Amino acid sequence: MAKGWTFQSLIDEQMAVTAHCQTAPCHHRQVLDLVKLRDRFGPDAPAMEWDFKSKLKCSRCGGNKVGLIYTPDTSPTGYGKAKGG
Ligand SMILES: [Zn+2]
Repeated sequence: MAKGWTFQSLIDEQMAVTAHCQTAPCHHRQVLDLVKLRDRFGPDAPAMEWDFKSKLKCSRCGGNKVGLIYTPDTSPTGYGKAKGG
């Protein structure tokens, strides 16, 4: 997977990006608003973790050790899968 994400491609591919604070004991998690980020940085702005995580700050503790998790934003249809966790 050598693909470089942009904010627009994340939205197009229905990816969800979750920021998680790595500062103990905070470990705050926040799903990023990709539409808002795209409007701020532009649709072609690189959205890989190393590109913009330095711009992120934990909204709870203010720490700048923030990691990003990229997951397909799949909404279950038909099977009624319960979301774990
Ligand atoms: Zn935090």
